[in-house]
Amino acid sequence: MPESMGVMDNFAPSEAAALGERTEGLGKAGRVAGDGDPSFASDRVDAILERGDSWRDWPDAIAQRYSDTATQRFYQEQHFLFMLGLLSCLATIAIDYLIAPSVAQDGFVYRVLAVCPITLLGLYAASRRWTLLTKICLTAAPSAFIAVLVVLAVTAMPEDTAKYLSAMPLIVGLANIVMPFTMRGLFVFDCTLILTAIATLVLSSPFPLVAYLEYVVLLTVVAFSTLPIALRFERLRQRNFLLNLRAETTSHELRAANERLQALSDRDHLTGLANRRCFDRVFDELIEQRAHKSLATDVPPSRIAMLMIDLDHFKAFNDTYGHTSGDECLRIVGHELASIIEREDGVVARYGGEEFVATLCEETPGAVARVAEEIRQRISTMLVPVAPSGRSIVTTSIGIALSEFDGDVNRQHLIKTADAALYNAKRAGRNRVEAIELGPESAKLRA
Ligand code: GH3
Ligand code: MG
Ligand code: MG
Repeated sequence: MPESMGVMDNFAPSEAAALGERTEGLGKAGRVAGDGDPSFASDRVDAILERGDSWRDWPDAIAQRYSDTATQRFYQEQHFLFMLGLLSCLATIAIDYLIAPSVAQDGFVYRVLAVCPITLLGLYAASRRWTLLTKICLTAAPSAFIAVLVVLAVTAMPEDTAKYLSAMPLIVGLANIVMPFTMRGLFVFDCTLILTAIATLVLSSPFPLVAYLEYVVLLTVVAFSTLPIALRFERLRQRNFLLNLRAETTSHELRAANERLQALSDRDHLTGLANRRCFDRVFDELIEQRAHKSLATDVPPSRIAMLMIDLDHFKAFNDTYGHTSGDECLRIVGHELASIIEREDGVVARYGGEEFVATLCEETPGAVARVAEEIRQRISTMLVPVAPSGRSIVTTSIGIALSEFDGDVNRQHLIKTADAALYNAKRAGRNRVEAIELGPESAKLRA
């Protein structure tokens, strides 16, 4: 039997599937966040954090994951941003009436006809996940907002002009911090807003642009001086992402290590079969699972068989050929047993020493006896290599406990009965199969 064979390899597919979570856990062993991509190992993520690598230097897989996360965040945030934009727009209509009643009516018309439709279009595009249109609206809505400010500024009473124009840098500064754009995207966004302000000033004001130079300069300075803050936020988001990723990978690695440990502690190292502890647990889970299934489908499970398989005169085999040959014999027997029992959708384990245990479900007494007889014959006819270069045979005795199954089977009672049958086989001369059939009552759980 290959050393690499996992414990669960000894369980037939249907039994393994029946055990659901347990086998699923073993299947996952070794997998880490990122489906096994070594870039996601926690020490690699640690190294990136320690070096403070910029996003561009991250391994492709991690950068891709970050980009996916950023896209996800983008979709989550834009809905909020458009709603915020819509509310701000409505709020500023009210503010117009407070600070500049002379232009409030124009303000109402411009905002309702220009800013609100773009914002609503953005909301719709965001809900449909139309990325390009959403981004265009995210830029167009504040641009329209600024254009309205400029128009109102140049048409308002001279004492109100400054109020409107000085609101522009405030809007750009805030937008830089909340907009879910990359740095390049933010740069384009800022340039668009500045150019919109300039173009609207040029088109709507009777005065030359130079008359508003201080506002344009202020707008530009605020736009570009708040970019580093946005960059800093972006860096913090990246670091946060890496910290979360490290937590995730560490927990995956711990789980995988636990699963490997569990698999190792369930395995008999000599034969690669499940060990007794694992068998007991799997058997109990199997019984429980079958009981549930029969309750759910209303079809009673028919029978369950326990086989105790013991090599004959194995002490003498060891004494004659040495312990190493004995070990080799146990390995070969384990392999043969697994091949037969797995074919029958059963579960087999090394129960201790030169003793094996197996369980078979839904078999007729004749079918179980045939499987046991096949095992006995296969083992008695195989040739075990023994030192220095010879071959020997070994025989086995098998005891079977066969029970009518009504969903409440006692493992220990079945094993005791199979042991009694094995004892009968030994007493009757070894190299034979003996069975004891139990009624449903005698197999039930009892004190
Ligand atoms: P019986 O036919 O009555 O079962 O006789 P037996 O000699 O097989 O039974 P006994 O219980 O007297 O001896 C079992 C032997 O199995 C003793 C021990 O040396 C051997 N054995 C148990 N575990 C191992 C093992 O891991 N490797 C080897 N090589 N031998 C083992
Ligand atoms: Mg023996
Ligand atoms: Mg024994």
